[in-house]
Amino acid sequence: MKSRPNLQSDATLCVHSGEDRHGQAGPITTPIAQASVFVVPEVEDLRRYAKGTRDIYLYSRYGNPTVRAAEEKIAALEGAQDAVVTSSGMAAEMIATLVACQAGDEIVSMLDVYGGTAKLFEQILPRCGIKTNFIPYDDINDAQRHFSRKSRMLFLETPTNPSLRCVDLVALAELGHKHNCCVVVDNTFATPALQKPLALGADIVMHSATKYLGGHSDLTAGVLVGSKKWMDSARQTMILTGGCLDPGCAYLLLRGLKTLHLRVEKACWNAAQIAKALKAHPKVQHVYYPGLADDPAHDLASRQMKDFGMMVSFDINGGERQAERFIDSLRLWYLATSLGGVESTVSYPVLSSHVGLSTAKLKALGVSPAMIRLSVGIENAADLIADLEQALAQI
Ligand code: PLP
Repeated sequence: MKSRPNLQSDATLCVHSGEDRHGQAGPITTPIAQASVFVVPEVEDLRRYAKGTRDIYLYSRYGNPTVRAAEEKIAALEGAQDAVVTSSGMAAEMIATLVACQAGDEIVSMLDVYGGTAKLFEQILPRCGIKTNFIPYDDINDAQRHFSRKSRMLFLETPTNPSLRCVDLVALAELGHKHNCCVVVDNTFATPALQKPLALGADIVMHSATKYLGGHSDLTAGVLVGSKKWMDSARQTMILTGGCLDPGCAYLLLRGLKTLHLRVEKACWNAAQIAKALKAHPKVQHVYYPGLADDPAHDLASRQMKDFGMMVSFDINGGERQAERFIDSLRLWYLATSLGGVESTVSYPVLSSHVGLSTAKLKALGVSPAMIRLSVGIENAADLIADLEQALAQI
């Protein structure tokens, strides 16, 4: 068997990590181990497995070769010792919480987190005796006042959805550690191709792999990455709470990951062109994109991200009526509430991710009925801009 060169670049890691085929005859891709259970050669193997000295697959909820390859690839991309792939991003968040907290503990979370995350923290975790203190974005520089002696997890997301605000991961991770917290970062919007939170001080990174990691709008998955110690605990929790990923889905995730760096590069380039075109448009009131030089997140994003991301939000002139007319006039962009696929999609936060929130909460999150969120895909930028412009002409 040839030994592997030390792989460093994301482009090479995307293609090769977790899937070493040198010296093997057979398929160049990782086969789908479509099995719920594995054959154990001899009882002695079981004995050694029980002692932790024999690494074999027993049962797919505990581990599966296709799922394992996806874990190894994502761990390599995030620069982590290990990763645990889960059935969804929400399953990953629940597992991270159970790993970091127990009844009586508190979470400190940014208020600007994915809507499902906020609901998990507000509606489900109090039933397990875990309370959350939310930090409004305007208070982020005074975040220490939201911690208490009971704080055990700091939950961060940057850039945020849909306002694309950024927070300083180095400073906040330091603050979280000062208060004995496990620092968890939702890296879904940036992906490891643009931002590596572990290198900036985070303990655990989570993703909705449903988005850019999968990249083709054809799977639901999540992942946690971090040190061996955190991941051993996460794996045990995943096994016992049952949030494992199906091997067929893991294959799609592996395939999507191979082009992550290319998709991200192209979509970032498209997003920058789109942000510029929207900013210059008379029917657009405001554009939210960290890549714009006058965006409040520009300096921070320049420091902690490799590029400015694939999401662009904007406020249209007018309100709900104009937003609706614009969205329904689009002929290339799909109206879809998810993000991160190769196809460009548009979402309307007040009727999807942020539906039902009070006016005060929407204001704190920077969301209004004029706001439209774009997930920029990998199509031709001129085609995407032409479609946005023809739809803007309809309002
Ligand atoms: N985190 C972010 C930033 C998301 O956008 C989402 C889903 O939209 C999630 C977490 C939850 O992921 P999933 O839908 O894969 O459970």
